[in-house]
Amino acid sequence: MDAEVRKRFGEGRAASYIDALANVPLDRFGMALVTRDGTVHEVGDSREGFSIQSISKVHTVTMALDAIGDALWERVDREPSGDPFNSLIQLEYEKGIPRNPFMNAGALVVADVLLSAHERPEQVLLEFMRARSGSTDVGGDEVVARSERESGFRNIATANFIRSFGNIHNDVDAVLDFYFLQCSLKMDCVQLARSMQFLACGGYCGMSGKQVVSAQMSTRINSLMMTAGTYDAAGDFAYYVGLPAKSGVGGGIVAVVPHVMSLCVWYPGLDGKGNSQLGKYALHRFTQLTGLSVF
Ligand code: GLN
Repeated sequence: MDAEVRKRFGEGRAASYIDALANVPLDRFGMALVTRDGTVHEVGDSREGFSIQSISKVHTVTMALDAIGDALWERVDREPSGDPFNSLIQLEYEKGIPRNPFMNAGALVVADVLLSAHERPEQVLLEFMRARSGSTDVGGDEVVARSERESGFRNIATANFIRSFGNIHNDVDAVLDFYFLQCSLKMDCVQLARSMQFLACGGYCGMSGKQVVSAQMSTRINSLMMTAGTYDAAGDFAYYVGLPAKSGVGGGIVAVVPHVMSLCVWYPGLDGKGNSQLGKYALHRFTQLTGLSVF
């Protein structure tokens, strides 16, 4: 992204907890949208792969809801947290039930559900991502996954803390390995926008011709993104963007205009809450110019 634009809107800072994210240059910017009929419109670095990080939580919660349905809500809540994505604070007084599936704590429980539901959960995740994005080459980045583990003290603590309440049923290390793999997946804006298309089409994925979840469930996944997809900035996102969205610390943000299109924007500099600084502005301008906010 142009230095002038970065100066004007604030360039943020790339995530610094692992080198693979810290070293991504801030001159990158890409955006892609996929309409209901599969037409792609894209701009900038929309075909450059990046670390999808927490965006993967949309896909894993979809898989968990498909596997065990509403029973998931006995293990994870559906409330916005108002706390940072990696916060542990509510876990103690809520007895190991994370506030929502998009905080790290919630995603770890979702990962645990998938480990119980599938014999080869990693393979099932990769197949899901490949089918949704229409790209057979989607995979994890081993260097990222390894550094996530090496620096993942807080996630390791979170998983063990939840385990102490009995809300993780599988081996904690296996749950963490799955979580670090999902964070390490590398995809580009076009692939990610495509992977979200089913949420713009009442649960139907045009890439694979498959009904992934019911129309009602896709509405509900969108509502989860609206209330918790951007963590303690979800109120701000609803206010300025007005679309269900999910961010990741790799600088990607996916968003859905229900019944119309899915989008992905990528800019690696983050704001103080871990959301892409210029990605946020791009989505704000998008709904401002098109009038496509759900409100
Ligand atoms: N790997 C990051 C973590 O677990 C993912 C967080 C994010 O993208 N918000 O802390």
